[in-house]
Amino acid sequence: MIQDWGDRAMSKRRSLSRRIGRWGLWLVVVLLALFALQVTVLAFPQILFSNHLRSGTVVVYFDGQPRDEIARMAEDVELRLRGSGYYDASRIDRVFFFDSQSKYAFFARLSLVTTKAQGFALSVFDNTYISGPNIAALAQMTGGRPRYGIWEGDPAHTIAHEIGHNYMIDRIGRDTWAELPQWKQEGFPEYVANIALIHSDTTATLPHRIDILADGQYWDWQQRWDRTHYESALMVEFLLDVQGYTLDDIVVDSVTRDGTYAAMVEWRKGQRSTVVSP
Ligand SMILES: [Zn+2]
Repeated sequence: MIQDWGDRAMSKRRSLSRRIGRWGLWLVVVLLALFALQVTVLAFPQILFSNHLRSGTVVVYFDGQPRDEIARMAEDVELRLRGSGYYDASRIDRVFFFDSQSKYAFFARLSLVTTKAQGFALSVFDNTYISGPNIAALAQMTGGRPRYGIWEGDPAHTIAHEIGHNYMIDRIGRDTWAELPQWKQEGFPEYVANIALIHSDTTATLPHRIDILADGQYWDWQQRWDRTHYESALMVEFLLDVQGYTLDDIVVDSVTRDGTYAAMVEWRKGQRSTVVSP
């Protein structure tokens, strides 16, 4: 009798564990299917856009009728990339430009990034996702200043910046990129996004933009790291354009933030002393 009870308990346990095993298997199958769906939607968002246009290596997907503003934006991005010195004609970068914040938020959540960012890139798919509404709100908040800062609220700037991340990862490899401090990760895409325009803008010399760092009126709407981001861009530009470094030189550990900042400030002082007073 006792034996019989023991057998029954054991077979009950066995069927329970079989059932748990079956449910577990189903759960794994469902999770894998959801993951596959997530990857597919992130890799091919074009199925959810009604239109696209291309300028050079940049293909912009958008909703609604083709409009000048989108065409100009795509041309502006291409101009920035071509003039950056890092242009890669063999790439195709797909840009998904969202007019609808809820549609953008869907993709941001799917990619596990904040819905408040102006945009983000998934370099593994060469895809860039851009929020029109977030960028417009930012431009209104900052009044577009300082120019050539990521907070100026210019969609072409944001897109070229995100593609700049992809350029960097392509050149130095994802592992090296992941180890870099933030000022290098963010400073280089800023260089790619802006340097073509900066070189032809006499009102935006590097010394002038270094002075903006110390000018409180540009940062009175300040969030936590806006000024830091601007500073990162200046430091990378200083290393590449003034010190003559290459991207490979910059990524090494011996190039530090403090050392670069000090050298940049010193260089700025030297620039000042070369100005001859009348
Ligand atoms: Zn960035």
